[in-house]
Amino acid sequence: MNAPDTLTAPIDVAAVRTQFPVLAQRVHEDKRLAYLDNAATTQKPEAVLKVIDGYYRFDNSNVHRGVHALAARATQAYEDARATIARFCGHTPEATVFTRGTTEAINLVAYSYLLPKLEAGDEILLTEMEHHANIVPWQLVAERTGAKIVVAPVRDDGSLDIDTWRERLGPRTRMAAFVHVSNTLGTVNPIAEMVEMARAAGVLTLIDGAQAVAHIPLNFHDLGADFYSFSSHKLYGPTGFGVLLAKPEHLDAMPPWQGGGDMIDTVSFEGTTFAEPPARFEAGTPHIAGAIGCAAAIDWVSGVGLDAARAHETHLLEQTMSAIADIPGLRVLGTAPDKAAIIAFNLDGAHASDISSLLDMQGVAVRVGHHCTMPLHSRFGLTGSARASFAIYNDDEDVAQFAAALRKAAKMLG
Ligand code: PLP
Repeated sequence: MNAPDTLTAPIDVAAVRTQFPVLAQRVHEDKRLAYLDNAATTQKPEAVLKVIDGYYRFDNSNVHRGVHALAARATQAYEDARATIARFCGHTPEATVFTRGTTEAINLVAYSYLLPKLEAGDEILLTEMEHHANIVPWQLVAERTGAKIVVAPVRDDGSLDIDTWRERLGPRTRMAAFVHVSNTLGTVNPIAEMVEMARAAGVLTLIDGAQAVAHIPLNFHDLGADFYSFSSHKLYGPTGFGVLLAKPEHLDAMPPWQGGGDMIDTVSFEGTTFAEPPARFEAGTPHIAGAIGCAAAIDWVSGVGLDAARAHETHLLEQTMSAIADIPGLRVLGTAPDKAAIIAFNLDGAHASDISSLLDMQGVAVRVGHHCTMPLHSRFGLTGSARASFAIYNDDEDVAQFAAALRKAAKMLG
């Protein structure tokens, strides 16, 4: 559970919580809400709600296509959002593509970048801990071409078997796609090292940053990866909006994936020419409020500071692990040395959905199921688990409420 090296001022979590109106509510006959489903989606601060409301109230217009005052304002805000998002990620706006989320970003790379290059016998290297969003798109393009999916295993503690991963970077590997932070294990993969190894082997990299972007600072330029994707809704921003960061030369070489308005240069019935990136990959009316809301979320989270957020979440993880350690029959999935504040668990002999329902009745919101990591659950001989995941606004009271509720559930189900 490595905390960031830098000394950072602690977060004033009480002040942070007041900025999230949703957290103040009571559930199930006046129970305090402990929202621990942040890996699924985070709550939105007032600053984001206000910006989205203001956009629809005063500026709503389609972008890039009008000269009237509202169209100019909406376009300006949308492109300003791109600049903010790119800056936050250490990248350039021109190579920052807006998508519907991580899933669409990975599909875009699979279909537009990789599919035209794939041949029978080529390989795509994944890891056993991938989210389905970083498995299924690759399977679909592999099936069309006769390429193969190769998988690197996860160790018993939930860390990646990096030696085997490196061995599997072979002469036919066309892409190594891997998760930055596992949404089930919490494992933080050593992405800089992995990018280096892949580069040495001449293999391109795509990193699924869905669970990392709100917790670990990113500098895409320094990292040297080929592609990095994330979703706004896991970063205190709106749903339905996400980002693909790419090396500019890859985007330049990529054909369009979806066709329509806004992605063209000229259209005639004889043929169409396409806009430069990123517009080439943003067909149709985009999620304008999504982009503006995501940028507002980035401004907000940057104001708190990602290093401070990580230190706070690591504290919550450590508190929780020690508060639940002696619960009889508890089995936690993933105890890698570098772990984000995500705890997937089971209780011996109990169904994960029963655990989650009992927690819910006590005001504790956790996720249940396979968390879109079915192969990973199979690796551990499980079909599912319950999962508590923490964010900037969680506090010691959430930890205490969760631990007490889980202890009670274990007694009832034991
Ligand atoms: N990758 C990881 C690690 C995730 O946790 C998720 C969402 O849970 C995704 C990808 C997919 O994100 P989205 O549904 O926002 O596209």
